[in-house]
Amino acid sequence: MHILSKSTYIKGEQCPKALYMYKKHPYLRDKLSLEKRAKFKRGTDVGVLARSYFPDGVNMTPSNPSLFGKMFEKTMQNLNDPNINVMYEAIFIYNDTLIMLDILVRDGDKWRAIEVKSSMSLSDTYYHDASLQYYVLRGCNVPISDIELMYINSDYVRDGDIDIQQLFVFKSVKEFAEGQLESIDKKVNDLKEVVNLPNAPKINIGTQCFTPYTCEFRGHCWKKVPQDSFLHTTSFDSKELFSLYNGGIQDNRSFKKLINPLSLEMNQIDALEQNTFYINYKMFYDLVGERTESIAFLNLLFYKPAVPILDKHKPYQEVVIAFSILSNQNDEVTEWNCLDDYSKMEDGLKILTEKLKRFEKVVYFSAQNINSLMHKYNILESKEISYKIINFRDVLKNSDFFSKKTKYDFSLKTIYEELFPSETVFEHSRIILNATSDNELERILVDKDMEDENKYLQKMYNRLLK
Ligand code: SF4
Repeated sequence: MHILSKSTYIKGEQCPKALYMYKKHPYLRDKLSLEKRAKFKRGTDVGVLARSYFPDGVNMTPSNPSLFGKMFEKTMQNLNDPNINVMYEAIFIYNDTLIMLDILVRDGDKWRAIEVKSSMSLSDTYYHDASLQYYVLRGCNVPISDIELMYINSDYVRDGDIDIQQLFVFKSVKEFAEGQLESIDKKVNDLKEVVNLPNAPKINIGTQCFTPYTCEFRGHCWKKVPQDSFLHTTSFDSKELFSLYNGGIQDNRSFKKLINPLSLEMNQIDALEQNTFYINYKMFYDLVGERTESIAFLNLLFYKPAVPILDKHKPYQEVVIAFSILSNQNDEVTEWNCLDDYSKMEDGLKILTEKLKRFEKVVYFSAQNINSLMHKYNILESKEISYKIINFRDVLKNSDFFSKKTKYDFSLKTIYEELFPSETVFEHSRIILNATSDNELERILVDKDMEDENKYLQKMYNRLLK
């Protein structure tokens, strides 16, 4: 049996304690939010599509985890079988570390190892992941001609059926991986020791609890940190806050002695201690601009598929799949969606352009920049358009809006529930899950949810503008 895998190695790199807890006390993990589970259900699985670039391979995925060892043996046998030229999810184990390689292709008397990524650019993490794969392959004495990352070609434009040869590009990472072998060997041995410790390693909470991923043991490790702790503030650099905290300054009273009483930090601590929110109203009013009743609250749902689903589209190009408009003047609602047929998007864009022209101000809430999407699809290009478009999320961020949860989640839900503490709001991901579901009954729920979200936005806007 193996001790580490690619995912547990990554976990251990982020924090050895997280690895230990995952192995020994997995039941202490935080509950996964809908946000984390949410993925567009429909759409192409890039990993599966990539296999068609190297067809007729043998799939080595075991039917259950107890068969990893058996499939490793089978993988090793297949390397010497002249009838097998391609393997998917080939399994290798070396130094108690298991990897599953997306695609392995015979290349003369050697093998070409390929890791598939669904992004259009390559991050350091990808290079490091591939280096761990290479370390295990080398350890298993697999003759490797190259190890490559296979990812999405950002210049690809769909024209008819998907052209697999044009959709993907390759980058060799063999040279980089060679240079990492020694440090990976050390890291693997260190992490194996961590797993074998009698107790969890003593590691203070710190920036590693959030970077590069939010740790699933936060609830456990942070249980002694009070809700109103200065650690939840945002105006100081996180590293600085942790260094004070782990250096012994753990209560707000001691922390406050160190900061300017007129600082934003102090305002945030006051908000925490009074269990309320903070906003710089002057900035807020400036950013919202002139008051008017002619406001359209806009909820726009779009989808960015890695593999273009419409002709003339590039990878990750936005496809508008639904919108809801709520008039602040008379509460009139306009709904539109093309959840059953994305090719109708152009019709929706025309309706959207026409509807929005009637308003002086358009307000939306999104972590994404919808303005650029609206420019791309000429919604903001018409000469007749004179409205001002506002991302309310940006307005709040730039007005220093702060409450106990906004450091970790600056969402409509979090902010709304702070402004209206007796109410709860569903997670935005519910809309995404339903909108991309294959189940018609779930798709029907989308319009109502989008309308409701718009009402929450309207209520927040009017509450703060009073
Ligand atoms: S919450 Fe922080 S300290 Fe605890 S295991 Fe996770 S990363 Fe490590």
